[in-house]
Amino acid sequence: MAAPHVLIVEDEASQREILAYNLAAEGYGVTRAETGDEALTLFRESQPDLVVLDWMLPGVSGIEICRQLKRAGEGRAVPVIMLSARTEEQDRVRGLETGADDYVTKPYSVAELMARVRAQLRRSRPGSVGQTLTYDDISLDPESYRVHRDTREIKLGPTEFRLLATFMEKPGRVFSREQLLDRVWGRDIYVDSRTVDVHVGRLRKALGVHGGADPIRTVRGAGYSLG
Ligand code: CA
Repeated sequence: MAAPHVLIVEDEASQREILAYNLAAEGYGVTRAETGDEALTLFRESQPDLVVLDWMLPGVSGIEICRQLKRAGEGRAVPVIMLSARTEEQDRVRGLETGADDYVTKPYSVAELMARVRAQLRRSRPGSVGQTLTYDDISLDPESYRVHRDTREIKLGPTEFRLLATFMEKPGRVFSREQLLDRVWGRDIYVDSRTVDVHVGRLRKALGVHGGADPIRTVRGAGYSLG
């Protein structure tokens, strides 16, 4: 499946680069924003899986950004880790009250921050950090690349595997063809959206090879969902 993508919002260049370097070393995709306004624009454009957000920013503050992200439809599900030089308990509470999912005080240890990033992703995108995903009688192990349906192994090509992993991370959620292209093929690759239909067809066929109902639902005019 596509590696998780992290949006870093930090106005201090050296801090931003340290974060970007360490996140990239963990295999994550990285987008950098220097100001609040830039953060909001890049959030929409890069559709990150997680945001690391500095509290003290010139212009729109981190608190306000967090509030806006958590208000916006799809953005609400994206975890936000707030960074702050403030240490008072009251500030921490205020940070969490704006909807931040975690709060880290500067100066922080990079190892600790990376652990917290992983913890948030384990919750929001479990497959991307190696957790086995299950849905009904289907299980998918992202580390061994194995898929089973009811005890029997299902053989999938790499694209079908990533497609199934994307569906299994959010059962019931309807993905548009464009969203599937972004998550499964990657955001910089041009693929015709009909390609999605072809691979969904292959995935359905593979999942049904030993019998069982078709778990993938076609939502006319919208896309596909699992269940
Ligand atoms: Ca700052």
